[in-house]
Amino acid sequence: MFPSSTVENYLKAIYQGQAALARDERLVPMGQVASALRVTPGTATTMVKALAESGLAEYEPYSGVRLSAAGEKLAGLVLRRHRLVELFLVQVMGMKWDEVHDEAEQLEHVVSERLIERIDEMLGRPTHDPHGDPIPSPEGAIATLEHDSLLTCPTGMPLRVTRVADQDPAFLRFIEQNDLKPGQRVEVEARDTAADSVKLRGQARRLTIGARAASKLLVEIDQS
Ligand SMILES: [Zn+2]
Repeated sequence: MFPSSTVENYLKAIYQGQAALARDERLVPMGQVASALRVTPGTATTMVKALAESGLAEYEPYSGVRLSAAGEKLAGLVLRRHRLVELFLVQVMGMKWDEVHDEAEQLEHVVSERLIERIDEMLGRPTHDPHGDPIPSPEGAIATLEHDSLLTCPTGMPLRVTRVADQDPAFLRFIEQNDLKPGQRVEVEARDTAADSVKLRGQARRLTIGARAASKLLVEIDQS
């Protein structure tokens, strides 16, 4: 059998692929799984077949893969460990939010259930990690709330950033420098489709960002 960290990385990649599927799609294409894990399509297929044999996934040759209920639960538990570790590293260890993802990628496979439970308790049973990603329950269930991004939300409305859907350290630093972290306020003044850009009014300043960056900042209408 394969090392458990490999199995967990596949479960996580398929889970995240499923979350990004359009409503009418059921399966994550194998090419996408392979590129997310930086392996060849042949390697990915071998692994996914093994997952299917263990009852963790459904594999349809030439179409793709999706997780079984058991696979989704395990993926949820990996994400729970990852996100609690990230929050612990930021809140307790004083690390920066742009440097904790890589650490969590390692630790998510080795921290014990007991340690995670202790971290969860110590942090006051938090619901979100430093990037605004929801922390799954001890049963591996994740609250899935559909949020608009700065690319799709209404313009001229007070908004609050809820989640940053990109863990790239340079991107996270850009977000921090421009006061666009989860919890901070922002408003979309206008979108320019020709220039592929979005004009924002932040807490302290106005700025223009590209459409790609805008699509990775999730927001909700600010009710306060
Ligand atoms: Zn992370």
